Amino acid sequence: MNHSKLPDTGTTIFTVMSQMALEYNAINLGQGFPDFMMSEELIALVNTAMLKGHNQYAHMCGVPLLREKLALKAQKLYNSHINPESEITITPGGTYAIYTSLTAILEKDDEVIVFEPAYDSYIPNIIINGAKPVLIQLQYPGYNIPWQEVHEKITAKTKAIIINSPHNPTGAVITENDIRQLKQIVQKHKNIFIVSDEVYEHLIFDGITHQSILSYPQLLERSFVCFSFGKTYHCTGWKIGYCIAPPALMKEFRKVHQFNCFSCASFVQYGLAEFLDNEDAYLLLGNFIQRKRDYFQKLMAATKFKPLPSHGSYFQCYSYKDFSAENDMDLAIRLTKEYGVTAVPLSSFYQSKKDDKVLRFCFAKKEETLKHAAERLSKL
Ligand code: PMP
Repeated sequence: MNHSKLPDTGTTIFTVMSQMALEYNAINLGQGFPDFMMSEELIALVNTAMLKGHNQYAHMCGVPLLREKLALKAQKLYNSHINPESEITITPGGTYAIYTSLTAILEKDDEVIVFEPAYDSYIPNIIINGAKPVLIQLQYPGYNIPWQEVHEKITAKTKAIIINSPHNPTGAVITENDIRQLKQIVQKHKNIFIVSDEVYEHLIFDGITHQSILSYPQLLERSFVCFSFGKTYHCTGWKIGYCIAPPALMKEFRKVHQFNCFSCASFVQYGLAEFLDNEDAYLLLGNFIQRKRDYFQKLMAATKFKPLPSHGSYFQCYSYKDFSAENDMDLAIRLTKEYGVTAVPLSSFYQSKKDDKVLRFCFAKKEETLKHAAERLSKL
């Protein structure tokens, strides 16, 4: 076809690297998904829901009981008063929730502030809506937000800012100071929306509390906050998530949603609604994933890679600048082909392909997987 709405968009790096991992039979620490079993209790609840007959179209906005349980959770965790009828929509995953939020608000020539390295769906989502991504680089190696630059890059056309904490690919998390800065911006620029990608809300560690936009009414009143059950319950293949936004924004969100997806698998939603009563399933997740981060970091100490800080998500970035000048894509390919371990090059999260000599590893894997991977990497 000689016309493309996304002429510069290729295949996502996660698919490229996972395919390569398969081809070379490498241990895949590239794509973000667990290789361990999810909760059998949740599987049983979903099975029961199917057997009970929850197999027809669910409500367009999501099964009411699930939305009620999510509102209750938002209240308990973030002291946020969410109306389940008008402020929550269940979606086929977090990525879809982000796309739908952007599509609901963006018009031609609008600008959206995106921090890089960026999860790779954001920029194509903006471009396909005729809007323009305004890129700001997080400050290596802590990947902090340079707020002064944010102030400088805001124009009359700025429609939204996308934030993502805990952050993919770096594991950086936003702090109370970041929230203060964001408040200052929206106080000054009344027309800016926030799209907050919080799919890793429970994957946070080192004693840090997740800073959710849901906790801050002044921010929430202009935000779409996006979540993923796939990340919280180790079932990324289920592709189910949700968006929370104030009624006026959610009304627009649903206009896009109703003719794109309409409604998500009903039995999954009934199962999830019941499983939400099990608070430990999400409250203990941070400790569980921290143990994996620590285990992998200890193993990686036997390699030449140097860890960069990660306080959340299930990723940790490692620098190799001390032992190689190779570009990160070449090294990622070489590791897959010659050493049998797949990681994701950080340059693929930058439009400019900025190369700080960093690879991203996913540590949400069984101990034996991590052990084998580190053994292979220690041969480098
Ligand atoms: N945002 C970020 C930052 C992610 O890493 C992911 C998953 N890779 C998502 C959103 C999307 O999650 P889902 O699979 O629920 O669409």
